[in-house]
Amino acid sequence: MRKNIVAGNWKMNNDLAQTEALITDLKRQSKTSDAEVMIAPTFTNLWQAYQTLKDNDIEVIAQNMHFADNGAYTGEISASMLNSIGVKTVILGHSERRAYFNETDELLAKKVDAALANDLRVIFCFGEELADRKAGNEEAVVEGQIKNALFHLDADAFKSIVLAYEPVWAIGTGETASPEQAQDMHAFIRKTLENKYGNDVADSVSILYGGSVKPANAKEIFGKPDVDGGLIGGASLKAEDFYAIVNAF
Ligand code: PGA
Repeated sequence: MRKNIVAGNWKMNNDLAQTEALITDLKRQSKTSDAEVMIAPTFTNLWQAYQTLKDNDIEVIAQNMHFADNGAYTGEISASMLNSIGVKTVILGHSERRAYFNETDELLAKKVDAALANDLRVIFCFGEELADRKAGNEEAVVEGQIKNALFHLDADAFKSIVLAYEPVWAIGTGETASPEQAQDMHAFIRKTLENKYGNDVADSVSILYGGSVKPANAKEIFGKPDVDGGLIGGASLKAEDFYAIVNAF
């Protein structure tokens, strides 16, 4: 059975002291749902966060990585480096990476391969822009992003893939996809997986929704049958809000 997951994407927020303070706050929260909980601090604070949460059930994950194992890639971090500090999951393909750092489906396919080769689980993000949705192209765009970056994988690899549908127009804008819009797209994504890999894979992959998830709307969104959790930006920076979302299941 697929898992419920709530992952906090801290983006480029929180220095070391702020990271420690937020983790202290997170540890004070109580979890009443069965969701797996993850946080993605910045690279400079990953080790500290990992050490601090070692005996806790909050998993510390990375926001990005390079596809190469090592070499002349100034400023970059590899999958094996993440692995070496205990990180087991990486977010790839976030729309901010695509928009500001020119990450393409082709590049992301290489990153996915490198992550899997290093035993990392991938939270693979994708989603349409507002113009795509206005033109009625959202399904074609999403299908293309998934196919181009993931459909070279075999069925077994999907044990290590989590999908995160994040309509770009809903990220950090306060505008959320309606629960029905999220459900419709998630059902389409699952169907796309089923057509390629069959029922077992389609049924076992967790599909998260991301884009202005808040305590006030999480319950309704997570209540939809094909929504298995959320990738949370802004609301993951406050422990109470984040746990209100975790506990919305
Ligand atoms: P948001 O970000 O919750 O602030 O909209 C979501 C994301 O970028 O993953």
